[in-house]
Amino acid sequence: MNVNDIQTLDRDVVVIGAGPAGLMAARTLKKNGLSVAVLEARERVGGRTWNGVVADAQGNEHFIELGGQWISPDQTRLIELVDELGLSTFQRYREGKSIYVSPDGTRHEYEGEVLPTSGTTREASDKLIADLDALVAEIDPAKPWEHPRAAELDAISFRDWLAERCDDEEAIDNVSIYVASGMLTKPSRTFSALQAALMAASAGSFSNLVDEDFILDARVDGGMQSVSLTMAHELGDDVILGSPVRSLTWATPDATTADPLNKVKADVRNGVDNNGGPGNVTAYSDKAIVNARYVVLAIPPNLYSRISYTPPLPRDQHIAHQHISMGLVIKVHAVYDTPFWREKGLSGTGFGGGRLVQEVYDNTNYSGGEEDPYGTLVGFVSDVYAEQMWHLPAEERKAAILEAMSLYLGEETKNPIAFYLSDMAAEEWTRGAYATSYDLGGLSRWGYLQNQPTGPIHYACSDIAGEGYQHVDGAIRMGEGVAKHILDQE
Ligand SMILES: Cc1cc2nc3c(=O)[nH]c(=O)nc-3n(C[C@H](O)[C@H](O)[C@H](O)COP(=O)(O)OP(=O)(O)OC[C@H]3O[C@@H](n4cnc5c(N)ncnc54)[C@H](O)[C@@H]3O)c2cc1C
Repeated sequence: MNVNDIQTLDRDVVVIGAGPAGLMAARTLKKNGLSVAVLEARERVGGRTWNGVVADAQGNEHFIELGGQWISPDQTRLIELVDELGLSTFQRYREGKSIYVSPDGTRHEYEGEVLPTSGTTREASDKLIADLDALVAEIDPAKPWEHPRAAELDAISFRDWLAERCDDEEAIDNVSIYVASGMLTKPSRTFSALQAALMAASAGSFSNLVDEDFILDARVDGGMQSVSLTMAHELGDDVILGSPVRSLTWATPDATTADPLNKVKADVRNGVDNNGGPGNVTAYSDKAIVNARYVVLAIPPNLYSRISYTPPLPRDQHIAHQHISMGLVIKVHAVYDTPFWREKGLSGTGFGGGRLVQEVYDNTNYSGGEEDPYGTLVGFVSDVYAEQMWHLPAEERKAAILEAMSLYLGEETKNPIAFYLSDMAAEEWTRGAYATSYDLGGLSRWGYLQNQPTGPIHYACSDIAGEGYQHVDGAIRMGEGVAKHILDQE
């Protein structure tokens, strides 16, 4: 693009990122009379929600959701918004028996929520879940760092915390995956018990995380990205696609920090006054330069440092952001001529702690009141297994993943008519999945900063949400909350 083609805009608020958080912030601000511009790096809106297709050998395209898709009943702000936007939801198919594959590879069919493990493993799991529920009840998901034992809980890995209470490895594997490979998508030794408790507290309780009928309850007809697409449609030309923000000027340096002897220019290392209030900001992106009074930084925290700030952010932000990283999971989509598992009385749900594919679900599409005749399965390859899969040639990778899925639902699983892996680690403007979390000790030490505005810069993202943490509901709550905060300043 010729530099002369870059437009200059004056707005009240510049929003960086057109995911659910940024679009919700822009929608709320605009509805309340402020002017906005939303600058989005990708050529589409929706961020980590993404309606896609995969073609079979006949060229028929099958709808798949490459990113976030499920809504649980506690995610009330998202449920309301879906309704406000004129969209609807449908429930995940869950009739029939589920499958549990135990550590020795034995396949068990079962009904209800309780895994068919031995009596001792069940008792051990129940005890761990009860201990976790008790801890989680004490945690405010909006401020986990304020728990009286926050530092202590943040100094021990989730795995070690579980192992202190139990010596049944199968129980530890099964309980840990609800947070580790199942949610934060990091090995359970790499994040703390406090971080795990936050994950569960954000969903209401640990028992809610364990209950897949609760957590994976409903999907949006037409796909979760439709939420963002509809909000972007309302915003019209105020959303500028294909325009990553490269730099942001946002504050006046504090002259007292200059060190002429050592050639150090003045900066804002100690922070600025008037956090949250208006200022003079300019966002420089590939297609537009936007002058505004506020910024909403609606990108995942692992990407904050992709933007060059003038002056640089205060030093506490510099340090805090280095303790946050994305998880890693590959979402697997396999399409079949029919949902063959249903004919065997199976729900399509499969669960096996510590396996290459540790979760499988029926993900058959439903639209306009009709179910798709094709059957779709979704599975997840998490953390270290995802890395292992990257190193295999494509056909070997596909065979290994389908073999792992067939343990749950049988030989037919190995022959999908279409197969697709969505891997957002490869996406420049996400760099992992599902979301970000802190390293050991980071949450209790730096978490308190994550939602505090820095001068005119306000932060909004599912990854710094309390309720709905790491989920679209959290993104929506954050976007709306930040917009209300800005409106309160006016
Ligand atoms: C595979 C997968 C499955 C998931 N499953 C679920 C699920 O079932 N249910 C659920 O609720 N959640 C799920 N999630 C999480 C959910 O998708 C996210 O929580 C949600 O999308 C976060 O919204 P956000 O707006 O905070 O961030 P994002 O969706 O990441 O949006 C941020 C936007 O900022 C843009 N951006 C980044 N840097 C810049 C820049 N410098 N300039 C301009 N734009 C920039 C990005 O391109 C992106 O569009 C899943 C996520 C993944 C990846």
